[in-house]
Amino acid sequence: MTAELNSLFIEKYPDGFKLGRVALEHKHSYRIWLEDREYLCTLAGKLAFEAVGREDLPAVGDWVAVQTSPGELKGVIKGILPRKSKFSRKAAGHVTEEQIVAANVDTVFIVNSLNDDLNLRRIERYLLLAWESGSNPVIILSKADLATDLDAKIDQVAAVAIGVPVIAVSVLEGMGLQELQPYLAPGKTVTLIGSSGVGKSSLVNYFTGYEKQLVQEIRETDDKGKHTTTHREMVLLPGGAILIDTPGMREIQLWTSEEGIKESFSDIEEYAEGCKFRDCSHLNEPGCAVRSAISEGLLSENRLVSYKKLQKELAYIDRKLDKKAQAEEKKHWKNISKEVRHHSKHKQK
Ligand code: GDP
Ligand code: ZN
Repeated sequence: MTAELNSLFIEKYPDGFKLGRVALEHKHSYRIWLEDREYLCTLAGKLAFEAVGREDLPAVGDWVAVQTSPGELKGVIKGILPRKSKFSRKAAGHVTEEQIVAANVDTVFIVNSLNDDLNLRRIERYLLLAWESGSNPVIILSKADLATDLDAKIDQVAAVAIGVPVIAVSVLEGMGLQELQPYLAPGKTVTLIGSSGVGKSSLVNYFTGYEKQLVQEIRETDDKGKHTTTHREMVLLPGGAILIDTPGMREIQLWTSEEGIKESFSDIEEYAEGCKFRDCSHLNEPGCAVRSAISEGLLSENRLVSYKKLQKELAYIDRKLDKKAQAEEKKHWKNISKEVRHHSKHKQK
């Protein structure tokens, strides 16, 4: 918590309120870190009522004003303090709305693996996302132990990331990790973005000092008294920094790459236009222009593999979204028909 935040809090909220931070969002309640304890808090009716969109509701990483009940680790969230930075994505539904997946992040580590082809365009998109969030990006080039031409690669990345620190690390061999320490100072909040497989979980394990911290499931009681298993989305690191790693953060890359996939893989998209079949999967169909580009050495097989992988991931997200959109649509119509019934009842009187 900064002095600035604290004075803002004191100015805006009267005595009896406490400043806490959202660690986890349940369906009807929130886990709030407050004075070294974790409180289970609900939302004040006024706050819920006045919220126009989801961005008006608390998100992981938010600083909130809480009214606690004496003698209990429970409270009511009365307000959200202004966000210094936020990562958001478009949520599914009949109206697209902003869903905040992490708030008040100081540093976002953009993780890219050095054993893959360096995709500078992708790094540029991640940088854009980081700048838009209001937090400061730091580029981590992971798996440095597998890198060839390390210096040349760092130079290439530095050229598209002007003014942004570029740090090569290897979790496996303990290389370069010390350079991350300044961003992990007490009170700082960090998060990670990057494609799957680049080594984010390995970095998280290194940061936390535990194996599998984030998949470690904790049984707890939710607000309805049911036992649920969840993982922590905000983690206090041994050095005093806070790590935010929400599922939404993990998925954010896919959302942003949706429009970028065509652009990033424009070479493959162009070859694919020459394929005999429009729905060619570029596996072994006759007349596949992508395969012939590969056999002529114009295109690498790896690039095709990562293109397909990205497309698969996108399709998966789309399916998930579809289901969610359908459910919300159903709820929407249910509400409307309830309203209509309500109105017609009144008219009959
Ligand atoms: P995530 O999907 O981004 O969370 O990536 P993971 O942390 O699960 O790592 C993906 C794979 O890369 C795993 O098999 C790791 O063991 C491996 N990996 C992670 N860090 C390093 C590293 O520094 N060097 C090497 N050689 N492999 C690594
Ligand atoms: Zn093809």
